[in-house]
Amino acid sequence: MTDTLAAADIETRLNALGVKGFLPANEAAVLYRLALQQAPAGTMLEIGSYCGRSAVYLGEAARTCGAFLFSVDHHQGSEEHQPGQDYFDPQLWDAELGYPDSLRYFRRTLAHFDLLSRVFPLVARSEHLALAWHQPLALVFMDGGHSADQALQDVALWGPKVGPAGIFIMHDIFEHPEQGGQAPYIAMQALMAKQGFCVCEREGSLVALRRMS
Ligand code: MG
Repeated sequence: MTDTLAAADIETRLNALGVKGFLPANEAAVLYRLALQQAPAGTMLEIGSYCGRSAVYLGEAARTCGAFLFSVDHHQGSEEHQPGQDYFDPQLWDAELGYPDSLRYFRRTLAHFDLLSRVFPLVARSEHLALAWHQPLALVFMDGGHSADQALQDVALWGPKVGPAGIFIMHDIFEHPEQGGQAPYIAMQALMAKQGFCVCEREGSLVALRRMS
């Protein structure tokens, strides 16, 4: 094992580099602690890379424990990142490609943290990767497409790939519409009802679940 960085130090470096993202520091600290706990048990997968804030926390935990993180994203932006939508960022917009291209920012973030041999970007839709993924996972962090169809599909496809000692972590869980979009919450309920997962930890909108049956 290498030395374990403090979550606050990672946050400070991410902020100094201006890495874009939507993961509050208190939630990131819990994600990091859970990743340090789970990484010795096997491979980790992130659904939704964006510009790499969460991948740095997961990747630093992977490095500490000698594990690896795969991070899947089509890097064309979710619905809310498209022109005219709430989270559109003109800096990401690639006029030639015709979509917000987050891949170059993601690679840059990994390079700044020297994580390119520890975190592997998979440029694909998560449902396509699921067709070819057969390895049990020690940790899944789901923060991908926030439409109901996409979120339900992601829990249906990736829940069964969590190993017996693994955990499934979801971001942007809001019980009430006035707090935020409901799709991840609806998907979490499906994960619990259909696959026997139960909540084992929560911090803000970040919820970790284990399979109990
Ligand atoms: Mg999120």
